[in-house]
Amino acid sequence: MASFKCLGCSKCCRGLTVPVVRLDLARWLSSGLYWLAALVVRVEGPQALRAGSTFVYALPKRSDGSCPLLQGFRCSIYPFRPMVCMLFPFAYSARRDDIGLHPWSPSNCEAVKRGLTEPDGRERGMLLAIAKTLDRELKSVDEHVEEYEAMIAAARARLQAKLAASLPG
Ligand code: SF4
Ligand code: SF4
Repeated sequence: MASFKCLGCSKCCRGLTVPVVRLDLARWLSSGLYWLAALVVRVEGPQALRAGSTFVYALPKRSDGSCPLLQGFRCSIYPFRPMVCMLFPFAYSARRDDIGLHPWSPSNCEAVKRGLTEPDGRERGMLLAIAKTLDRELKSVDEHVEEYEAMIAAARARLQAKLAASLPG
């Protein structure tokens, strides 16, 4: 098995739900990326149920199902991408208490299809830490609704204030 190397096909940015957790929102707010935090929506569906919650907070989708932050084949916010995007095509495996391939990856991710299936040894520890944090966050969304809603509302309020301040007097 060869080390994973993203081939940049961008398929994972075209159709999958992209969950956003409190750490993502906090990072965006502290970096002044209010417009990004303001985009976040609440969604129900398989992603939420798989995580053990009734819904998750996530990036919205364009009408073709793609992520609105995808420009061509590139992520327009790469250094600030959500934790789930940092982890992809891997995910936390509770059974093994380790990272494994995300169930979507074997038949869709071009790199995984070509046998690049092992996390880079140097990155494994960091990926496992992200995977565990994400798993914990996604399983407890229902318990932290007020925090999510407050962060999103704060982002929208800051965005509105910035827009109002930029309008001619
Ligand atoms: S945030 Fe970036 S990496 Fe994540 S799905 Fe969107 S375009 Fe892809
Ligand atoms: S589907 Fe796989 S190869 Fe394609 S962009 Fe996503 S992680 Fe990279």
